[in-house]
Amino acid sequence: MSQSGEIRLKGVSKSFGDTHAVRDIDLTIANGSYCCLLGPSGCGKTTILRMIAGHETPTSGEITIGGQSVVGLPPVQRGTAMMFQNYALFPHLSVRDNVAFYLKMRGVRKAERRARAGEMLERVQLDHLADRMPAALSGGQQQRVALARALITNPRVLLLDEPLSALDEFLRLRMRSELKSLQNQLGITFVHVTHTQPEAIALADLVVVMDHGEIVQADTPEAIFTRPATPYVARFMGGQNVVTGTVTSAEAGEIRIAGKDGAFVAIDPKGEGAARDATIAFSIRRDRILLTPASGEVAAEPNLVVGSVEEIEYQGSFVKVTMGRDGEPFVVHVPDQVFFATPVAVGDRVAARWQAADTHIIDRPVGAEET
Ligand code: ATP
Repeated sequence: MSQSGEIRLKGVSKSFGDTHAVRDIDLTIANGSYCCLLGPSGCGKTTILRMIAGHETPTSGEITIGGQSVVGLPPVQRGTAMMFQNYALFPHLSVRDNVAFYLKMRGVRKAERRARAGEMLERVQLDHLADRMPAALSGGQQQRVALARALITNPRVLLLDEPLSALDEFLRLRMRSELKSLQNQLGITFVHVTHTQPEAIALADLVVVMDHGEIVQADTPEAIFTRPATPYVARFMGGQNVVTGTVTSAEAGEIRIAGKDGAFVAIDPKGEGAARDATIAFSIRRDRILLTPASGEVAAEPNLVVGSVEEIEYQGSFVKVTMGRDGEPFVVHVPDQVFFATPVAVGDRVAARWQAADTHIIDRPVGAEET
């Protein structure tokens, strides 16, 4: 068996009766990378994970691991290991026996099982709890046992289904960085299912954003965040304003649109223009916007939104200011120092301005429902 943990999915679909859980997916996950499958509940993330693991068979398409086709191969022959959302520890086995479980299944002798389980428990810093029963462990400790149990067979791919969702906020952040450093140390491929954007951004080399069984964008976290491919991705990743409409003119380096939020003019960020009557969407990062009081009439200009402050939410390092407009609210993240030096209050009229380079044109044609 090849040791490479490169995973390729080609034209993979999966239906359960009338439900198309996954539709015609093409995806390559590089050997040794950390991939997060990200999307709302029901978008097909777990189904992809289960097909890679061999717990589910694709309705059509091909899956290879390390260049070898695995469709039809039982899970134990794939070189993959899976960590489940609720950890699924065996309650009647000690921590050590839980960790050694898959070695026992494979007929490894007792002395070697003990030694390898001991090493693995050291790696996850649980060697002092080897004789405890799972019920006497904290959530974080249980998670480490589940990790150790999954890793003991030296898999080339570790599959993790919402591994952090059962933990409280504090522990979640700690275990998140532990997962990342473990993956760095081991150098094997991790595929991690999550519906939480910050988790995907913090962990992944490759973020795969899914919607209704399809991949909408697969790229680095930085590219997904700064150059979302569709309005859905921009909204789902958060941190941006999305302005959509129909192009009424694109002249002199400015693109004018009319949408449900009224007219809007953007300085053409790439200078490539836009077709008249095309449906277009811009995304503008909330943290790249300058907010000033707008007393009196404000002359129309590009890259400007005027509205009244509807909500102010202190978030620690920044203050989230929500401006009401005709359609979708426009949100500005003002650095805390800037906000407290020149505060605005609910009801104030304000102007939001930003640099041309901070407008991103969302390339992919958007459907009518987006306007
Ligand atoms: P969640 O975050 O809620 O786990 P998900 O993105 O992982 O969601 P999947 O579990 O992959 O989504 O499910 C995708 C779709 O396929 C859903 O509509 C789900 O109801 C359906 N589905 C999944 N497994 C089965 C099954 N065994 N039988 C019937 N339908 C299924």
